This record gives sequence, C-alpha cells and structure tokens, in this order.
Amino acid sequence: EEIRTGRRHVGTYKPPMRAVAERQSGISRALLQALEQEDCLPHFQPQFNIKTGQIVGIEALARWYHPHLGWIAPAEVIPIAEQNGLIIPLERKIIETACAQVQLLPGDVDLAVNLSVPHMLHGDVAPMIEDCLNSTGLSAERLKVEVAAGRLLNTFDRVHGCLEDLRALGVTLSLDNFGTPASALSGILQYKWDEVKIDTSLTKILRDGDAGHGLIAMALTMVKTLESTALIEGIETIEQRDMLTALGCELGQGYLFGGPMAIDDLNALFFSDQPNLARMLM
Ligand code: C2E
Ligand code: MG
Ligand code: MG
Repeated sequence: EEIRTGRRHVGTYKPPMRAVAERQSGISRALLQALEQEDCLPHFQPQFNIKTGQIVGIEALARWYHPHLGWIAPAEVIPIAEQNGLIIPLERKIIETACAQVQLLPGDVDLAVNLSVPHMLHGDVAPMIEDCLNSTGLSAERLKVEVAAGRLLNTFDRVHGCLEDLRALGVTLSLDNFGTPASALSGILQYKWDEVKIDTSLTKILRDGDAGHGLIAMALTMVKTLESTALIEGIETIEQRDMLTALGCELGQGYLFGGPMAIDDLNALFFSDQPNLARMLM
C-alpha cells in the first residue's frame, strides 16, 4: 500500500522473498511457545466405511491458532518444524493428546497419526510412541501410523528399521498420499504396508470419467497385490462415493463425510450425533 503513496516510501517495501523469510522465522520462534501453551493441538477427521457410513477411524491433524497470524496450515508449519527440530516435540504433543482423547471415546475406533520422515531419522520414534500408548492406555492395535510417500523416496532405506520397530510394537503402518508423483513405483511399495491411502489428487479426477476410473482401479489392484488395505482420501461428492463403492472401495475420508474438527465436535459426534450422521449419508 505504502508504495503507491510516493517515492519516498519505496524504501519500506519488502521484497516477497524477505517477507516469506520473516514470516518463517516468526513462526519458528513462536512454535516452541505454542507447544508449551497448548496452542498447537490435533483436530480430528473421521474415516468411514463408505458403504455403511460407519466411522472406523479418526485421523489426527495438527492445528495451530496463532494469536496474530490466525490459523496456520500444517503444510506451512510442518516443514518449518522439520528444519528447526521442533517436529519432535510437536508430533509427540499431537500423538499423545490424540491418544488420550480417542481413548475416551465410546467404541473402539482406530486412531491414525502422521509421522514425519525427519522425525523418524532424528528422533526416537518407537520409544516415544510406546510411551504415548502406555501413558494413555490406548492399545497398540488401535494406532495407525501414516508416513507420507513423497518423503520416503530418498530415505526409505534409512527409515526401514524405524518402521520395523513400530511394527514390533503392534501398531499399524499406513503409506500416506499414494498416487502423488513422488510416490511413483519404487522400493517403497515393496514394503508390507498394512494400509495404503490413495491420494486426493486421484480422487479428484474421478469427476472426469473413464480415465479416472481406470487409474483408481489400477491403484486398487496394486494395493490388493501388496495384500494391503486401501483407504481413499478426499471424497467430496456423492457421485465420487458411489463410483468408489462400485469399484469395490470400502474405506475413505473426505469433506462429504466430514472434515477435520476440534475435539468438542468430535465428542458431540460420538456421544450424540453419530446415528444421525450415518443415516444422513445413506
Ligand atoms: P494428509 O495426512 O494427507 O491429511 C489429509 C489432508 O487432506 C488434511 O489437510 C485434510 O484436512 C485434507 N482433507 C480432508 N478431506 C478432504 C477432502 O475431501 N478434499 C480435500 N481436497 N482435502 C481434504 P491438512 O489438515 O491441511 O493437512 C495437510 C497435511 O499436513 C497432511 O496431509 C499431513 O501430511 C500434514 N500433517 C498434518 N498434521 C501432521 C503431523 O502431525 N505430522 C506430520 N508429519 N504431518 C502432518
Ligand atoms: Mg495423513
Ligand atoms: Mg494423505
């Protein structure tokens, strides 16, 4: 704005690169405090059996409300936290809180959490997860650990041991974002994932007719070949749900069923609204 008021003010103009760098260092500085003050906590997105409308799991997704900047998307926070090392306390906080909150829900839905590759490379992930399970009482079979395919491309050999340690705890391992360019067929797919999450980018092209159908069908065949379970991400329309059910998909999540929500809304869903929600989807 100031740049328009005259040449004398041009000096106050910040090049975008510098503005970006300043925002990043501001976020980096504020993150530690946010973790201590519990301003960075999980929200929860239900995962469904898309045929019956039954909730089978809940994915915990990091959410941070900054007093001045407002909501900061995980897509912005996570890479910064990976650089400054705060990914380790951040994910511990998200996972521990999510375990405690899901343990209090009725029924025995699974909890899915996201784990960053740099955290696996530099932290003590398996003992941390074991601690979270012990301190909250959530049983290992109910915890699903998602690792994003894109980050595994160059690191798979180095995180393999960590995956095995997690598996030894009895948790379920899920390959997140399958279908993005960086997840192209590679050694990653040879690993015995319990679940493979088909990325939103593939769900989106279902709109466009036969080609989309073919690609999802192919992805499903691959997942089946791996003796793994498919979960479809990003289901937004009833048409997509119907096409996916026709293709034999059982598990999914997306705005059609419900987006990520704060713990109070999740509790409301489980303690009062769930029958309505299931009926609504039929
Ligand atoms: P993700 O694990 O693939 O999570 C799914 C993302 O898709 C979430 O974005 C969710 O809000 C969004 N989503 C849900 N339903 C729909 C839909 O119907 N359509 C579309 N287009 N999107 C949908 P969100 O919460 O912004 O998270 C983005 C990514 O940030 C996550 O992708 C995950 O990779 C990462 N993330 C979030 N929390 C953590 C964390 O604690 N640790 C790590 N390492 N990554 C995290
Ligand atoms: Mg995920
Ligand atoms: Mg995903």
